Amino acid sequence: MRILKIQTLRGPNYWSIRRHKLIVMRLDLENLADKPSNEIPGFYEGLVEALPSLEGHYCSPGCRGGFLMRVREGTMMGHIVEHVALELQELAGMHVGFGRTRETATPGIYQVVLEYLNEEAGRYAGRAAVRLCQSIVDRGRYPKAELEQDIQDLKDFWRDASLGPSTEAIVKEAEKRGIPWMALGARFLIQLGYGVNQKRMQATMTDNTGILGVELACDKEATKRILASAGVPVPKGTVISFLDDLEEAIEYVGGYPIVIKPLDGNHGRGITIDIRTWEEAEAAYEAARQVSRSVIVERYYVGRDHRVLVVDGKVVAVAERVPAHVVGNGRSTVAELIEETNQDPNRGEGHDNVLTKIELDRTSYQLLERQGYTLNSVLPKGTVCYLRATANLSTGGCALDRTDEIHPENIWLAQRVVKIIGLDIAGLDIVTTDISRPLREVDGVIVEVNAAPGFRMHVAPSQGIPRNVAGAVMDMLFPNEQSSRIPILSVTGTNGKTTTTRLLAHIYKQTGKVVGYTTTDGTYIGDYLVEAGDNTGPQSAHLILQDPTVEVAVLESARGGILRSGLGFEAANVGVVLNVAADHLGIGDIDTIDQLANLKSVVAEAVFPDGYAVLNADDHRVAAMAEKTKANIAYFTMNPDSELVRKHIQKGGVAAVYENGYLSIVKGDWTHRIERAEAIPLTMGGRAPFMIANALAASLAAFVQNVTIEQIRAGLKTFRASVSQTPGRMNLFNLGNYHALVDYAHNPASYEAVGAFVRNWTTGQRIGVVGGPGDRRDEDFVTLGKLAADIFDYIIVKEDDDTRGRPRGSAAALITQGITQVKPNARFEAILDETQAINKGLDMAPENSLVVILPESVSRAIRLIRTRGVVKEETHQQ
Ligand code: ATP
Ligand code: ATP
Ligand code: MG
Ligand code: MG
Repeated sequence: MRILKIQTLRGPNYWSIRRHKLIVMRLDLENLADKPSNEIPGFYEGLVEALPSLEGHYCSPGCRGGFLMRVREGTMMGHIVEHVALELQELAGMHVGFGRTRETATPGIYQVVLEYLNEEAGRYAGRAAVRLCQSIVDRGRYPKAELEQDIQDLKDFWRDASLGPSTEAIVKEAEKRGIPWMALGARFLIQLGYGVNQKRMQATMTDNTGILGVELACDKEATKRILASAGVPVPKGTVISFLDDLEEAIEYVGGYPIVIKPLDGNHGRGITIDIRTWEEAEAAYEAARQVSRSVIVERYYVGRDHRVLVVDGKVVAVAERVPAHVVGNGRSTVAELIEETNQDPNRGEGHDNVLTKIELDRTSYQLLERQGYTLNSVLPKGTVCYLRATANLSTGGCALDRTDEIHPENIWLAQRVVKIIGLDIAGLDIVTTDISRPLREVDGVIVEVNAAPGFRMHVAPSQGIPRNVAGAVMDMLFPNEQSSRIPILSVTGTNGKTTTTRLLAHIYKQTGKVVGYTTTDGTYIGDYLVEAGDNTGPQSAHLILQDPTVEVAVLESARGGILRSGLGFEAANVGVVLNVAADHLGIGDIDTIDQLANLKSVVAEAVFPDGYAVLNADDHRVAAMAEKTKANIAYFTMNPDSELVRKHIQKGGVAAVYENGYLSIVKGDWTHRIERAEAIPLTMGGRAPFMIANALAASLAAFVQNVTIEQIRAGLKTFRASVSQTPGRMNLFNLGNYHALVDYAHNPASYEAVGAFVRNWTTGQRIGVVGGPGDRRDEDFVTLGKLAADIFDYIIVKEDDDTRGRPRGSAAALITQGITQVKPNARFEAILDETQAINKGLDMAPENSLVVILPESVSRAIRLIRTRGVVKEETHQQ
């Protein structure tokens, strides 16, 4: 067995619209190609021994043990690899259930599709599954140690990728509300929402969190000063930088017990509380100096430690934090009890888990001593022994929810304090003996205000009700349901995607919105090019969706991108499918036109239920996509008598129809005429029917997004098929006594489309300079030749500079073959070099003729034409 290719899908895709995270492995079964599992001696037994939990896989029999039954009776190895890869992830704690296995058109080569939660883990699981199966085939077994290593590695991937408890809570809540999110890959930044409506977060800071508030909160002394002057109860204290000043400071705060802490510290580092002697004070001073140059000396307030979380001006959760401790059982020593407590799977290192493991530090021994214990003392049953003085979760403490107990006056005070400091999300540390009574009655104090407070004590308290604090953050960032998104319009088809995408973007611009769009020519925002190149994959979609200025996204979604990585967004508001015609067949295991239709249908299916699939009613494969999508349907048609469209409109549907020379929107009883085709430059005076179809699709997509007919009309009338707006799409040049047309047609359907225009050229000869990309099938070139023979009076056959692996001359020979098949006495010649071929065409052009150039390089072709002195670049002729 050999893995030929592994692809990682991250959005709606060919295999599933709903499951976005899939690994696709192209697997050559080699000598196992005609050996089902029942014909491999000992395989079933070896597999069951290695992975007994496969018993849980139902598979097609639909019952427990169903999959193993298939293995016993005989199934192909690709299918087994799929189940093993899923099970390995399952054993590492990642719940994945979806898998598919299909043989490709090449016998013995399979596509194995499996779900993942973590990309790296998914790819690893695929490779490990192949290793495991091969080992059982070869040796009858897979060593236990290797399996354990595999599972450990998978767990590591999963753990390394985890986001941290606060971010995790936020992201989960976002998903629940249908708010899209993505990691920006720097500084742990998370983007929530799209485009102009996005918000960013970093842990629990948002882009509304003010820098002044954060800096103030980080400066404990300044915070206290500001709060004290506002009449808020804070600990009495002072700041010193020299040991010499310690004695005076202790006196100033009223004597022992005191607290000493670093001026800028966090997570309880360097803090000593409840200091009762000079020796302790000196040691505490040194400890604090390790963390910070200056040191705070404060009165020690007796009480319990509370964290009050304020989001958007409201108290949303209160937790009591209990310092790390153990409870005696009458048998175990303190050390043993710590060990046992740390066994809890909920306890991890640092902030990653719900709780943190207990670790002892300098203060722990002091504390033990004070309580009269050592690590070897056996604790009486039920006795609590504290191990840390401060209650931070990160030092092993735990949290009890007290949200329902806080006194209304304390709520008022907390909310006021956070306003004074100036934070949208803040955590107040309050020390009080009783949170259900006003602080001033019980001598409670606000010790600190934290920016970026952790959420884990609220979402996963050790006791009490978990609080959905991330929900409050979402309510603040996205006050209503729609406010996180921008409209996404995605466009696919075999031909016309770029033209339609650009036209749609241009129409949308008439609304005054900033449109971001991606095409095979480049990525654009508003009127400017951001990045040139083929930008139809998910990365380019992300560029647009991450851009904070973009109000509408129009995305060309090409075959290659969907196949390689899936769509770059979970669903669009409008999905346009223009047409499905033979092109690229035989590439990427898409061998038939129906498979190609299934691939393009992803764009129609990945549309929100309240959105629209805009479908070509004249292309039966596209029209049939209506059955597969949950979205509303809108049809466009060149045929005013289309039965399908008539019925659709009768049922209350909307359509764009070419009728009596007009592009019109038909809805209910009314026909809204947008404009005469002749007055739309893109259609070349109405003579390029395929451009009319593209314009109908773009108009309809805009219309269902509530762009007005007037705006659509304005867009259609000002969009020109000029070199600057649509290079390589029907660019017509007037060279004085003849014309030249440059078009990017390179498959049969687009040849036909251009042909429809060329046939309308009745003033003179029609000369074609033709060719096609080398990676297409032989029969495709023959077809191109046949079509060319039909369209042109004289043909110059050329080849691309890049033959894409095909021997030089082979494509031309096939085209020639096609030409002579339909027209044995056709006038043609072959000039393989594109520059020479174009020059020949232009040199020979007679009076009033049209030279049609279908080049590999559009820019070069246009350059060659321009050197001949273009009289006028025409976008349409009346
Ligand atoms: P974190 O940022 O993790 O909250 P920190 O290092 O910023 O911790 P503080 O919040 O100032 O430190 O103190 C940690 C804990 O120590 C407080 O939550 C409180 O339990 C206790 N503490 C601090 N100062 C006092 C005080 N003056 N009286 C009583 N307890 C105190
Ligand atoms: P690509 O797959 O190369 O990105 P595309 O789908 O983006 O192509 P365009 O660049 O808009 O398509 O157009 C390429 C060529 O396809 C045009 O120059 C024209 O010859 C032809 N074409 C455009 N629209 C249609 C259509 N609706 N039907 C058939 N052919 C078309
Ligand atoms: Mg604190
Ligand atoms: Mg394109």
